[in-house]
Amino acid sequence: MDVEVAVIGAGATGLFTALDLSLRGVRVAVIDRGGLLSGTSGSMHGLLHSGARYVTNDMESARQCIAENQTLSIIAPHSIFDTGGLFVSLKGDDDAFIDFFLKGLAEAGINYREIEDPFRLEPNLNRDVEYAIWVPDKVVDPFRLFGGVAYLANKNGAKFLLHSEVKGISGSRVITEKGTINAKLLVNAAGPWASKISQMHSSESQVIELMPTIGLMLVFGEKLNEMVINRLRPPSDGDIVVPFYGRSILGTTAQVVEDPDKVEVEEEDIQYLIEEGSAMLPRLAQLRPLRHYYSVRPLLKGTSARTATRDFEIFDEGDMVTIVGGKLTTSRLMGEKTADLVSEKLGISGPSSTAKTEIPDALSLYSLKNTIGDEVYGQGYALARLEEVLQA
Ligand SMILES: Cc1cc2nc3c(=O)[nH]c(=O)nc-3n(C[C@H](O)[C@H](O)[C@H](O)COP(=O)(O)OP(=O)(O)OC[C@H]3O[C@@H](n4cnc5c(N)ncnc54)[C@H](O)[C@@H]3O)c2cc1C
Repeated sequence: MDVEVAVIGAGATGLFTALDLSLRGVRVAVIDRGGLLSGTSGSMHGLLHSGARYVTNDMESARQCIAENQTLSIIAPHSIFDTGGLFVSLKGDDDAFIDFFLKGLAEAGINYREIEDPFRLEPNLNRDVEYAIWVPDKVVDPFRLFGGVAYLANKNGAKFLLHSEVKGISGSRVITEKGTINAKLLVNAAGPWASKISQMHSSESQVIELMPTIGLMLVFGEKLNEMVINRLRPPSDGDIVVPFYGRSILGTTAQVVEDPDKVEVEEEDIQYLIEEGSAMLPRLAQLRPLRHYYSVRPLLKGTSARTATRDFEIFDEGDMVTIVGGKLTTSRLMGEKTADLVSEKLGISGPSSTAKTEIPDALSLYSLKNTIGDEVYGQGYALARLEEVLQA
């Protein structure tokens, strides 16, 4: 296959990069060792950040999150649920942190309002909640959103090579399980595996170092909260509960690992998470989680897993551009900035248009419906059919 740009990784970052480039008329191929969103993006927490989580320690990420929260809500309303979010402070929590947090919200330009009677809105909240504040957190369905992004990229000429692991790189040629792709430039959007791709491409001294950090999430069979519930304290474990369709998802932990492919979850991690989360919603401790899942954050090497920036960084490595860090919430912006650099290197002019491009609700096109229009099979079926179309 001959293309101008080969994007390695069909996660949030790679897909928005591919869409951005294909809308600029660039011939792109997207390669992934699994299917669409088979890495971190398909196993995230479901929160479309307002940025409030970061206003006390990572102002740049906070600003990016609120801007992208608004943009994605306009271009992909079908995949975003405007639940709102509550930050709650419990008896014994540090009051000084509340002032610090409010100042940060104002500085980042994030709307907020104090809620006098949070128990009326969220009856399952711990009665020890002493202070609650509303912020514009939302919930995102990643498969619905990125099914649409992939579909639109493909409509604009992007080719997809899924279930095809990259085994080697020679200059800007990619050797995969299913064949070789000749490109002028490569984009390494392999998330927590970006170091491994960098190792295939670059000399030892230039390899990009990441701090792969696993996060555990627990899915509960009841929806205990209508809004995203966050603990009003410095970012910590078990401090966010996301309402996701009829369920509540508690997360997360942050544990640095050597290899993103070698991760084990211990029963004590599950119990620890329940303990932390039930401080906000005591009913969590009475329920057995339906299941747990985890994914790996592609964080840049920093001081600790909690303080490492959620900002992203782009590395120009000659015939490969590597993008790492960030959040799913900021993936459109990450794709835009990556595509800007790639376009410059290819000598193509013209700005990004993804911020104003409507993302189609593609998964609904591929779902199987009965005669009255109800879906017979769920998202997995629609996704598999979409993947067949993308690779045809
Ligand atoms: C526990 C947890 C919870 C999170 N929750 C949220 C949240 O609620 N909101 C939010 O905004 N962000 C959240 N994030 C962050 C967000 O999910 C990630 O920043 C984002 O999904 C990363 O996307 P990506 O495309 O860079 O990486 P990925 O989604 O991991 O994509 C990389 C792709 O590269 C592919 N790949 C790797 N190696 C190869 C190879 N050799 N050949 C071919 N393909 C390869 C992988 O299969 C994968 O599909 C969370 C992260 C974690 C870990």
